[in-house]
Amino acid sequence: MKKVYLDNASTTQLRTEVIQEITKILSEDYGNPSSTHGFGRNAKSVLELSRKTIAKHLNCASQEIIFTSCGTEANNWILRSAVRDLNIQRIILSKIEHHAVLHTVEVLEKEFNVQVDYVEVKSNGAIDISHLVELLSHEKKTLVSLMHVNNEIGTVLDLDKVGRICKQHNALFHSDTVQSIGKTEIDLTNLPVNFLVASAHKFHGPKGIGFAFVRKNSGLQPLLYGGEQEKGLRPGTEAVHQIAGMAKALSLSYSNLEKDRLHISELKKYLISQLELEIPEFSINGSQDGFYTILNVLLPFSEEKTAMLLFNLDMKGIAVSRGSACQSGSISVSHVLKEMLSTEDLNKPSLRISFSHFNTHQDIDLLVEALKSI
Ligand code: PLP
Repeated sequence: MKKVYLDNASTTQLRTEVIQEITKILSEDYGNPSSTHGFGRNAKSVLELSRKTIAKHLNCASQEIIFTSCGTEANNWILRSAVRDLNIQRIILSKIEHHAVLHTVEVLEKEFNVQVDYVEVKSNGAIDISHLVELLSHEKKTLVSLMHVNNEIGTVLDLDKVGRICKQHNALFHSDTVQSIGKTEIDLTNLPVNFLVASAHKFHGPKGIGFAFVRKNSGLQPLLYGGEQEKGLRPGTEAVHQIAGMAKALSLSYSNLEKDRLHISELKKYLISQLELEIPEFSINGSQDGFYTILNVLLPFSEEKTAMLLFNLDMKGIAVSRGSACQSGSISVSHVLKEMLSTEDLNKPSLRISFSHFNTHQDIDLLVEALKSI
């Protein structure tokens, strides 16, 4: 049975070159970057070269890249330190942020009594920018946290526009860019953002490693205390092999970006055209012109079919992600779709299909065939 992996917003397959890079570092460059002998200096140079590579692709200074264990950690660090150390008194975010942001802010609200305001989300999943401007008109030291590409529905935020609005209102701007780094160009010299986060396993790198972009002189303080690693901002012996693997994965993502984006966009278009043909009553959750790697669809299936949908797809070797409740293995309604769909539509099955350059037209045919036969 051919297996079909269409869950790339969840995690991605490693590129062969990345695996080779990681194993090379593991076997050859095993020194501790903090050691002053040759082994240590060697590891340190791998570390700093990786930082430089990442910074070059995002057009920022190397010192502005801080390695973390994952995207979740980077989000937690930035939000918590902003409240604790930068005197942030209010956070503006949306209800369709990733839980790594939503749950962190909920805890900060309780712990520090920080004011939390939610910007409205339109029925197509877009952030209501005029509501954001209205919220920002109240005087208070504010941080805006809005994600770049939504991981469930693929809606895209105009980072430049929101960044300029934040700047005009003296607010700090943090964006969770976990779904977009490596998949679209980001020029941090010209983009008015203070903080971004990334996670290597979303761009064909290893799990357990990510980074934060923290603009110079931010004033952020560490969450953990220990050694001097990452300028004391994130102590703990660096995972050199993971970091080198992440830098390799990012480089390959950017050197193949045009070709891969074209291929994936074409696959997404092909899937939509096949669904129009075979399951014409389907609809797209979010916007028609969402990010090219993600498609979230509402399917016109009966209740019995809905209950076992993911299970049946899995039995056929097809991996996609649930979009809403009542499907096998899921326990709750998607907090993202809840903000956009009617109760009636929430009870119908939604699927998130997310692509990578490894996917083929045959994968799409197998998915559509499977959906038809369910
Ligand atoms: N933010 C977004 C938008 C994500 O999609 C994810 C992963 O699902 C995360 C944060 C968490 O990243 P990590 O798995 O590296 O903690």
